[in-house]
Amino acid sequence: MVRKAQATEKRIVAVDIGGTKILAAVGDIRGTVYGRYRCSTPRDCGALDIFQAVESAVAAAIKKAGLRPGDIAGMAVGIPGVVDYKRGRIVKTPNMPLTEAPLREFLFERFGFPVVLENDCNLGALGEAWLGAGRHCRSVFGVFVGTGIGSGFVRKQKLWRGARYSAGEIGHMVMQIGGPVCGCGNAGCLEALAGRTAIERDIREAVAQGETTVLTELLGGDLSVVRSRALRAALNAGDPLVTRVLERAGNVLGAACISVRHLLDPQRIVLGGGVMEACGDFLMPRIRSVLDADHMRSAKAPDEVCLSQLGDYAVIVGGIALAGKLCGANPLKKYPDVELRVLKSAAQKPDPESNEES
Ligand SMILES: [Zn+2]
Repeated sequence: MVRKAQATEKRIVAVDIGGTKILAAVGDIRGTVYGRYRCSTPRDCGALDIFQAVESAVAAAIKKAGLRPGDIAGMAVGIPGVVDYKRGRIVKTPNMPLTEAPLREFLFERFGFPVVLENDCNLGALGEAWLGAGRHCRSVFGVFVGTGIGSGFVRKQKLWRGARYSAGEIGHMVMQIGGPVCGCGNAGCLEALAGRTAIERDIREAVAQGETTVLTELLGGDLSVVRSRALRAALNAGDPLVTRVLERAGNVLGAACISVRHLLDPQRIVLGGGVMEACGDFLMPRIRSVLDADHMRSAKAPDEVCLSQLGDYAVIVGGIALAGKLCGANPLKKYPDVELRVLKSAAQKPDPESNEES
């Protein structure tokens, strides 16, 4: 299954650094993924531990693709925070100790090929705009609900980064004045109301008040981390507490989508991330009903909001697109009609941490 690269067929590495997992993959601008590696994001540690985990994941993905670093043309790394894309600087990562950490320099020193850093959700939106649910749309707004909430805006096949690179930080849009404190330090952010960390917090608080949930049994009494998969299992079991907390999250997400509509009016809003992947069938009808109740709604557009098609691969595909563009070809323009193809060498199990999620 492993296909050796021809000298003229340079490959690209894309990395997704998530709150719980790091995913590295080797692909090309025709949408093929040749090798992939996934590991846990180190917790309660410093930047260097995360650097080393990224380095190992990249080395493993290149090896799984049957390649050497010399076969790679460039790499894009998705960072969960604000990134000065031009300078390759990590400005702020609210949920991870990477603020001002010199990751680009570290990776360039280790591998020797060009490295570009970008906000992870910008890459996710770019991925969906190229090969996912936003394909062939003139404007795509991607919202990703995982540990936190982020977004990215792609217009005319290009990312819209804003004057100071913080366009699309929808997770930190204030939805409730004086609301719960967010990881960023502000209060009442969307992320502090509807991200997975906020959902976990609401569940723990209700349990502390005496409410019961099937999660206590499912997770052996430890509610410190509630993965999206566990939320799904609780929904399936008809758990009243989890159902209520997720209903509220869905309503808040719907309200955020209304703001997106009125601010940018994108042709399509794509919703992805671990929480949407696991609980999308429950959340989407709520988000849609909030949007449908919008009195300021203009024309009816049945496909205005939809679920991500790339799932775990959205950031990876966007990373391949961005690094590909920097290496000389914008795949959104050059290969708008290819399909994502994951070769067996990349898809094969076991990944050591296949139970992790973004
Ligand atoms: Zn915030």
